[in-house]
Amino acid sequence: MHGFIRKMSSQSVMKQDVIIIGAGIIGLATAERLLTQGATVTILERNEAGQESSWAGGGILSPLCPWHYSDDVTRLTSYSARLFPAWINALQHATNIDAEYEVSGMQVLPPYNSQAAQHWCAAHGMQLHHHAEPGQALFLPDIAQVRSPRLLRALQHRVITLGGRIVEYCTVHNVMVTRRRVNALATSSGRWHADYYIVTAGAWSKEILGAQAFGLDIKPIRGQMLLFKFATPPVRTLLLQQNLYLIPRRDGHVLVGSTLEDVGFNKQTTRIAREDLLKRATILLPLLQDMPIIRHWAGLRPASPHNIPTIGKHPLLNNLYINCGHFRYGVTMAPASAEILLNEMTGTPQPFDTAPYQMGWQTR
Ligand SMILES: Cc1cc2nc3c(=O)[nH]c(=O)nc-3n(C[C@H](O)[C@H](O)[C@H](O)COP(=O)(O)OP(=O)(O)OC[C@H]3O[C@@H](n4cnc5c(N)ncnc54)[C@H](O)[C@@H]3O)c2cc1C
Repeated sequence: MHGFIRKMSSQSVMKQDVIIIGAGIIGLATAERLLTQGATVTILERNEAGQESSWAGGGILSPLCPWHYSDDVTRLTSYSARLFPAWINALQHATNIDAEYEVSGMQVLPPYNSQAAQHWCAAHGMQLHHHAEPGQALFLPDIAQVRSPRLLRALQHRVITLGGRIVEYCTVHNVMVTRRRVNALATSSGRWHADYYIVTAGAWSKEILGAQAFGLDIKPIRGQMLLFKFATPPVRTLLLQQNLYLIPRRDGHVLVGSTLEDVGFNKQTTRIAREDLLKRATILLPLLQDMPIIRHWAGLRPASPHNIPTIGKHPLLNNLYINCGHFRYGVTMAPASAEILLNEMTGTPQPFDTAPYQMGWQTR
């Protein structure tokens, strides 16, 4: 949809009215980009902003064993991870909120596929420190982390100071369509109208689209996390063993995650997961044995086939866009996904081939 934001001159852009559905990291990052281009943006959020999957996430800014993923995931996560330092700096400068971006590096403990790791790192210019002896950890020094709840707070603050509006406790029930356009949203607080609509409702995106979802395959996958608090960080790097990871924060908090559970829209935590995470984490960091669990939570990831999100225009409805289905790596992918969507809306050239992120409408 070239001409979404019609250029009046090279400096100014004509304002358009956009409603974004869902104030997770993807909705907030998308809003921020649109606002800086001069659009008028309202986000409708069912609960409070930034409290769902984006809050629950660990904030590791890379796929967990990146060599397990396709080039379509790598292209998006690598590009996005490179955007992070400048993005976080600009947010901190504008809001005074430090999202604790940190290049802590990640140790990968066995078992792992050493050859695949070495090959992938060489092909993608990522440093890898590899021990010759079997049974030793790999070290990926370039991998960074961010404290997701703080990043969300900074983004909310930024969106509001840029003139965006976040309407909380407003549930979108469905999109109302006439002649290949959305003409309103039916919500718990009446009908809302705009020139353009963007769905960024994470695991709930398919339900909101209803009959307009076509083959979009997005569903919730629950992830549970445990939180500990030490006086000082007991370890400096991220630790990963298969699907289990430990994330040390600057102030001594340590997060342990995570499960991957196909249980529908159910955010309950379970005793089985708590015991399993604790048992496996204690093998990686024996100090955890004597520490109380200070918090245990669950979030619903917006799962897509092959971890590839769908970003772009709806195949039939001319004023509807989506940015969802980021599954395990939505925090990592957020700045790039917002940029790609904005480029598409404004007819700006993309930094790489983005066709793979528009395939979600068909079943892969
Ligand atoms: C345990 C766990 C660990 C994770 N770890 C990492 C990690 O280390 N690194 C990483 O990159 N990613 C991680 N992720 C994944 C990442 O958190 C998600 O991919 C990302 O948060 C998705 O963002 P989102 O904005 O699409 O979804 P969400 O954050 O879920 O936001 C969607 C929003 O839409 C709102 N909404 C839903 N329905 C409606 C409606 N009808 N009307 C209005 N609003 C609605 C919701 O209330 C919510 O606020 C993790 C996820 C989990 C659960």
